[in-house]
This record gives sequence, C-alpha cells and structure tokens, in this order.
Amino acid sequence: MTKVITEPAREVPVRDEVDVLVCGGGCAGVAAALAAARNGARTCLVEHYGFAGGTLTAAGVNGIGGYQHDLDGRPLVSGIPIEIVQRLAEADGASPESVARLTRPVDSGPVAGLGLNVYWVQAHPEKAKGVFDDMLGEAGVRILYHADAVMPVMEGSRVRGAFVESKSGREAILARVLVDCTGDGDIAARAGAPFDLGRPGDGACQPMTAIFTVADWSARAHNDAMKSEPLAAGRYQGYVARSRADGEIALNPNDIFCAATYLDDRESRAASVNFTRVQGLSALDAGELSRAEVLGRRQVAEAVRFMRKHMAGGANCALISVAAQIGIRESRRILGDYVLTGQDVQGAARFPDAVARGIYTLDIHNPTEVGKPSALIELEKPYDIPYRCLVPRGVEGLLVAGRCISGDHIALSSYRIQSHCMAMGQAAGTAAALAAAAGKRPRELDVGLLRRRLGEDGANTGEKL
Ligand SMILES: Cc1cc2nc3c(=O)[nH]c(=O)nc-3n(C[C@H](O)[C@H](O)[C@H](O)COP(=O)(O)OP(=O)(O)OC[C@H]3O[C@@H](n4cnc5c(N)ncnc54)[C@H](O)[C@@H]3O)c2cc1C
Repeated sequence: MTKVITEPAREVPVRDEVDVLVCGGGCAGVAAALAAARNGARTCLVEHYGFAGGTLTAAGVNGIGGYQHDLDGRPLVSGIPIEIVQRLAEADGASPESVARLTRPVDSGPVAGLGLNVYWVQAHPEKAKGVFDDMLGEAGVRILYHADAVMPVMEGSRVRGAFVESKSGREAILARVLVDCTGDGDIAARAGAPFDLGRPGDGACQPMTAIFTVADWSARAHNDAMKSEPLAAGRYQGYVARSRADGEIALNPNDIFCAATYLDDRESRAASVNFTRVQGLSALDAGELSRAEVLGRRQVAEAVRFMRKHMAGGANCALISVAAQIGIRESRRILGDYVLTGQDVQGAARFPDAVARGIYTLDIHNPTEVGKPSALIELEKPYDIPYRCLVPRGVEGLLVAGRCISGDHIALSSYRIQSHCMAMGQAAGTAAALAAAAGKRPRELDVGLLRRRLGEDGANTGEKL
C-alpha cells in the first residue's frame, strides 16, 4: 500500500471570482474561453504553460485537421474553429489559401479526395501562441498562465471553482461553472466524475509522440521518392522495416515514416516531424510520463539519423527542437450523460441535442504492437456530437470539452482532431455562459437555446438552415 501522510488544513486566498472558469488552454480551452467571454461571462482561463494552444503549441502538432463541408455544402466545422485559422493566416501563421478553401461554397459535401477525408491547415506553432494571446485578450478573458488547476472546490456534488497552484502559491478561483479542458479530464475526475481509459479489455491507450522540428528538409524530394523507390513506397515502409532489422530503429515501434510537414503550408525547409511512438506508458502517472519524455527524445535522435541516412530530401536535415512536451493522443474519457460510440461515428448518428459536427477518420495508432500499422477508416458522412457528451455524470456545475469528452476508444480516435475539439470548446463555453447567466446547472440548460446561440455565433450544429 502507498505510504500516506496528512496534509494540514489551511486557509486559501481567493484569487478571483468569475462566472466561467476554463481549466486548460489547449485548442478546446481557448475556444471555450472565447465563447464564454463573448457571451457575456466573466471568464478566467488557467493554463499550465506560459502560452495557450496545448497540443498545437506545446507538443508541436501543427496540422489542424478535421475541416470539411457538410452534406448541404456549408462548412462542417465553423464558428471559432474557422476564426482561429483565419486569424492565423492574417498573422502569417498559416497560408491564406489553405484557410480560404474551408469556407468556399460548394454544392454539396463532403468534398472527396482530400486525404483522410478532411482539409488540413498547417499552423505555425510559435505564431499561434501570439494569436491566442491576442484573441483571448480582445475577448476580455482573464488569463492565468504558469498555473495548474489541482483540485475542484466542491459544495457537495457541485463544483464551485478550483484550487490552483502557481508561483503565487495555492489559491482558489471561484466560478459558477467550470469547463474542464485539461485534455486528461483532471478536474472532472477529481470531482468524482466516472471515466474510462483506453480500449476495452486491456485499457491500452494510443501511443504518445515526441514531435520534432528539422531544418534543411525537402518534402518534395521525399514525396517523389515515395512514388519511384520501392523501399520508400507506403511511407518508407521498406526502409523502416530494414532499419529495424539492422538495429537502427531499436526504440520506435512505428511501421512507417509518419509525416514531415512544413510549419505553415508554404515552401520552406523547416518541417515538423511526427515519427516517434511511445507505447505502454500512462499519461496520468508522472513517473511514466517522465519515462515517456526520455524515450521520446531518444527516438528523436534515432529518427534524425534515419532521415539523414535513408530519406530523399533528408540527407542534410538537422534537428532544431523537440516540442516542450510529448504529445498525448489518449487518456481519460469522462463519462457523461451520453457516451458517443464508434458505431455512432461510423453510422453518421444524428442527435436532437447536437452542438458540433465531426467527420475525421477513425484513426487509431497501434497501442501495443511493434511494426504494425494504425487502423484508419475514413468516414463517408458526418456525425453529431451531442451536448450530453460534455455533461459529466454525477457532478454539477461542470462541463468538459476536447479529447476528454464522453466517448468510447473508437469514437475518440475521430473527435480528438483539433478542429472538432475547438467546436466542442465553443459549445461548452457558450453553454457555461448561458447556464451561469440563468443561474442554472449546465445539465438543466435549454439545449434549443444553446443550439440557437451557437448558430448565431457561426457554429454548425446540424440545424437546417
Ligand atoms: C502526436 C499527435 C499527433 C496529432 N495529430 C493531429 C493532427 O495532425 N491534426 C489534428 O487536428 N489533431 C491531431 N492530434 C490530436 C489533437 O492534437 C489533440 O487531440 C487535441 O489538440 C486535444 O486538444 P485539447 O484542447 O482537448 O487538449 P490539449 O491540447 O491536451 O490541451 C490541454 C491543455 O490543458 C493544460 N493543462 C492540463 N492539465 C492542466 C491543469 N491541471 N491545469 C492547468 N492546465 C492544464 C495543458 O497544458 C494544455 O495546454 C494529434 C495528437 C497527437 C498527440
């Protein structure tokens, strides 16, 4: 049994009192904070790092995916998720053309032939930090960077805010509604909400990835080689297999070279590389997460050697940086009033309380096996994400958004894409503001009102136009 000691009770200063407290400033949290503040709520955003953006900025995942056209030709994911990439383009952090095509009218959707069924916007992670600062500031969000939300403030089963730890010490921020956008659902879990983890049976989660940036890389040469060189076909599968057999790839279980993408869609020689895979370690255990970071960096060194030796376009590539933290694809899924399933996603399920739409591919990176491919199943039609998936069971005053919402292992592999997380963030932030203003529990909110407000704010909830 773990040895325990008792922490003495103490008085804690109340740093702030707001209507909506958003914990975690990844893409879901940024959208939630913007939506809450714009809907009139006094809003505070608490974020662990000194910048917002989460996986995009801290873990270097700079391809914002999941945009598409809906069946009637309008943008499938709209509102704040599109506004964010438009602001990125204005700040020279994404190519304007890659953003303009998201809203270009088409007769009907989804538009075929886009690869993994979606449009992607390559966003420059460093420029994204400034864009998020500006947008949050303009909306009047009270930003608290370098602060961790550590425990909910509870009144019975109702969340009334959170205790935060920072250089200022331990403080409390009180709120009418808390939106947990920590990716891992930390606050919801500590408030007592039930959760699931990983796939059924063994609970194994998708692997983590240390993303790194290289200079002197030519994607064109690399893409050409995949068409002409047998060992480079299928994303360098032959070279990866041979390098594994030769002991050059000893640490990375991946069967293919995953991707090296320009930082922001334009021809440049710097690329962000998604090739490493760390399996079997938990993102919820500090010791295991530490081991994952160490192993991830070792895989980066291996990967750069592989790129220089075997990849067309990579002979002179040089490592510039490894992202501040390893990217986490999967951890807690907080169970809500509805659990979105893989069947719902594949069956294009419709729900009367839809607050967002999704279409990204079912994309399950192999959780346990070495040298085995991911499961990739493209969707033909979009599905709804119901409000009930954002409302955790058994706890009041609380919403969740982003990859920690209520779904199963298979559904998560689709809705975890960033544009979908932003759409959920907008929905949760709007719901939190409306609930706070009405003095209602989020669970009691009139979902018709929420859907109308989301529509007025540019979001697509699947409502007929
Ligand atoms: C390697 C990898 C590749 C991917 N590829 C793509 C891709 O190509 N395109 C795409 O669109 N998506 C991709 N995804 C998925 C996508 O990036 C994530 O699912 C999505 O960004 C999750 O967003 P989020 O806001 O829910 O969580 P996160 O991005 O994890 O944000 C959570 C935020 O909360 C903060 N935080 C956590 N705990 C606390 C706390 N207690 N107190 C305060 N702050 C806290 C964190 O610092 C972080 O900023 C990828 C993911 C990974 C890991």
